[in-house]
Amino acid sequence: MNKIKASGTDREGRTRWELQRAKDKQSIIALLSVVVLVLLLALACLLLGAGAKSAEVVTASAVQTEQADKLTVTEVKPLGTFKAYAYCSCEKCCGKALGHDYYGITATGTVATQGRTIAVDPNVIPLGSTVYVNGVEYIAEDTGSGIKGKVIDIYCDTHEAALAWGVQPVEVEIALSETVEIDS
Ligand SMILES: [Zn+2]
Repeated sequence: MNKIKASGTDREGRTRWELQRAKDKQSIIALLSVVVLVLLLALACLLLGAGAKSAEVVTASAVQTEQADKLTVTEVKPLGTFKAYAYCSCEKCCGKALGHDYYGITATGTVATQGRTIAVDPNVIPLGSTVYVNGVEYIAEDTGSGIKGKVIDIYCDTHEAALAWGVQPVEVEIALSETVEIDS
């Protein structure tokens, strides 16, 4: 009797223990599910955080690019018809004999060069300006006593070339450059 009772008790106990184990398994699975869910949420937060961080970096570099982005806008403005003389470096044209310290040197200190140098009235065309004379590019880098108002003097290598030019009406344009910051 005792044996049967004992074994019965054993069986009951084992069954209870097995039930308990099954319940533990269920709760472990539930716990694992929660842990996995929490980990997934954490991962999602990390990814979102990383995404936000990289977005911040992009914004910062965009600001830097904005600060660095400057554009030089050049506008060619017509100044109308000018009277154009021509000159060379000779004493007749410039009053400086060959051997003079400033022979062939312009008012801006450059060496007068055919195809680049013109003399202007600085009140009309600022010195250093890029000027188009009948569409040909020159630099306003010299001045002259007779060059006032809408008058220019085109530099030539030889006195003969200057004489050959004589005096001619020309269309003058000026390149006006402005550096602007780009909004992007
Ligand atoms: Zn000359």
